[in-house]
Amino acid sequence: SWALRKQMGFEFQVESGEDYAKTDPLYAGKFHTVVRCKQHGMVSDPGAYVKALAQHFEDSGGELVLADVTGLGQDNTGKPFLDSSSGKMSADKLVLTAGVWSRPFMEKMGIKVPMESERGYHLELKSPESYPVNPMMVASGKFAVTPMKGRIRCAGVVEFGGTKAGPEDGPIKMLRTHVESLFNDLNYDETEEWLGHRPAITDSLPMLGQISSDQEIYTAFGHQHLGLTGGAKSGKILSDIITQNPINLDLSPYRPDRFSA
Ligand SMILES: Cc1cc2nc3c(=O)[nH]c(=O)nc-3n(C[C@H](O)[C@H](O)[C@H](O)COP(=O)(O)OP(=O)(O)OC[C@H]3O[C@@H](n4cnc5c(N)ncnc54)[C@H](O)[C@@H]3O)c2cc1C
Repeated sequence: SWALRKQMGFEFQVESGEDYAKTDPLYAGKFHTVVRCKQHGMVSDPGAYVKALAQHFEDSGGELVLADVTGLGQDNTGKPFLDSSSGKMSADKLVLTAGVWSRPFMEKMGIKVPMESERGYHLELKSPESYPVNPMMVASGKFAVTPMKGRIRCAGVVEFGGTKAGPEDGPIKMLRTHVESLFNDLNYDETEEWLGHRPAITDSLPMLGQISSDQEIYTAFGHQHLGLTGGAKSGKILSDIITQNPINLDLSPYRPDRFSA
């Protein structure tokens, strides 16, 4: 709730839709009330962001291999390995970060992971004639609008349908109806639709840590709706765990084996 956010120190300001339109004229006449949340960030091009991270990894001496992983575990000498379409690979440490697809690998190692895909969709308006100034969560339609490079992205919907089935028409139609009603007077070139998988564990917490003290296999998945937001922090925590840097946090709620005990 907003009261809880306030209690936890989040800064926000409630204003009328009319006042907010002075900041963001694209929304003139669209909202009754807007809550302006301070100190938020956004990524203007998530694809470019991930590519830049991969480039940074390579520039720092890492080797990027794009391959399908078919199995992983620990060999007789205690070294982690994985089988892949590029052959068998072994390493001193292995980190499993396959999002919702991590579950079968964990289950093969005997670790229970109550995780499902919360499927979500986005609709992008390409080359719009103007852009919103800020990202906006449209509470009435339960979707988020983000101004991105060359497009406006409108993302939302939670659907349980697994990872194998393709996109459904119903959710995207619902999203399109809300988006077209919000931007009914905006010109843009075309739209693009996308289906993605949020890796959602039943307690909404990621699995972050070593799978057991005698295996050099670590996990970092299960960030549900907030993987882009939480990824950097989780990466830092995991690197501290692996390099045995002291961490001033209770990580027990994130234990990868918390459902197996
Ligand atoms: C519509 C929508 C909107 C969202 N909006 C936001 C947002 O605004 N902010 C936010 O923080 N988060 C958002 N999220 C959530 C975010 O996208 C996820 O939390 C995040 O992508 C999870 O990251 P991940 O790396 O764990 O998994 P993924 O991004 O799913 O990546 C897993 C990777 O593993 C690869 N993989 C899987 N199996 C194998 C295999 N066998 N071999 C090799 N590779 C494999 C996949 O190809 C994939 O590249 C949104 C999600 C959706 C669907």
